[in-house]
Amino acid sequence: MRALTWHGTHDVRVDTVDDPEIINSRDAILKITSTAICGSDLHLYDGVIPGVRPGDVLGHEFMGEVVETGRDSTLKKGQRVVVPFTISCGGCFHCKIQQYSACENSNPAEKQDMSATLYGHPMAGLFGYSHLTGGYSGGQAEYVRVPYSDVGPIVIPDHLEDEKVLFLSDILPTGWMGAENAEIQPDDTVAVWGCGPVGLFAIQSAIVMGASKVIAIDHYPHRLELAKQLGAEVIDFRKTDVREALMEMSGGIGCDAVIDAVGMEAHGFAIDNMIDIAKQKIGIGADRASALKQAILAVRPGGRVSIPGVYGGMTDKFPLGALMEKGLQVRSGQTHVQRYTKDLLEKIEDGTLDTTFLISHRLPLEEAPRGYKNFREEQDSWTKVVLKPGMEQEQAA
Ligand SMILES: [Zn+2]
Ligand SMILES: [Zn+2]
Repeated sequence: MRALTWHGTHDVRVDTVDDPEIINSRDAILKITSTAICGSDLHLYDGVIPGVRPGDVLGHEFMGEVVETGRDSTLKKGQRVVVPFTISCGGCFHCKIQQYSACENSNPAEKQDMSATLYGHPMAGLFGYSHLTGGYSGGQAEYVRVPYSDVGPIVIPDHLEDEKVLFLSDILPTGWMGAENAEIQPDDTVAVWGCGPVGLFAIQSAIVMGASKVIAIDHYPHRLELAKQLGAEVIDFRKTDVREALMEMSGGIGCDAVIDAVGMEAHGFAIDNMIDIAKQKIGIGADRASALKQAILAVRPGGRVSIPGVYGGMTDKFPLGALMEKGLQVRSGQTHVQRYTKDLLEKIEDGTLDTTFLISHRLPLEEAPRGYKNFREEQDSWTKVVLKPGMEQEQAA
């Protein structure tokens, strides 16, 4: 089959690789109908995630048709399903309390060492996201093997087209959990750093949850425009002093809750961010956390800090004093996708949530390398790329 494979920093290619096969009785094989490039795929593309190997198939946002099932899969051939990016067994301690992204069984034992050393506990398995998370082949391909197919995938009714539901695989539940972790109350003022896909969905979710004011912070004009269309007020951080503006917009108190949807490759001009960029370039694993630092300073005392943005390593000059002295509550984590898919599918069906506004480009799988390049370099206009393995080259738009 054809699949998008990683070969090094800024080097991804569509290659012919072996077709996936059923390995365990709970597996299923999907024929991919739609798959997206995610902002966190750009961390792999930029070479800042350890444990990726040449030839690895990327992609953790995908859906498709069931074409083969293992003996214990609950799926049936012909069903259309969306698959959570987190791989979860459904039966371990963490899965049973719905902390699916902390599954103890989905990252094979021989792959656990690296993340266990880094974090004290091994990470769960994720699709297409390095050998830290199990080394599973991803879904930016014609076919994919889905382990524990009786737990993760959600069956999609025929009347909902792919583009309406594809983002249930990651960014919609991630934005939703980002807002939920901010414990939004009616009348809250909430600030969201980053108007990429997760940030925009966090904004949308915060509004659905009843926040009275949502403030979006970014510097890309088109992304800020999308945030505005969702109902947010906006701050361009290149033109405005963010902390001053947020104080003014929150009646001099500070925001009740802040959401960092930027993660470890934050843009920033402060000197410590420049040092972090240099460290990241020479591979000593420092996260650039300027958005998070700003968020911690901008939230009101007693406020909530939610971090859906992805971090992988260490960071310097972290405002730990502000965290403690202001009495802040911090929540973060890879998304427990399976906890949210059913509820969010209902919200898509009844029209409460529409995520299709985000899609800027549709490309055949063969053009995935161009998709990566442009998604990275032209972030303002390439807000979200959907790859369609079956699409003819000339249909691309
Ligand atoms: Zn993603
Ligand atoms: Zn589990």
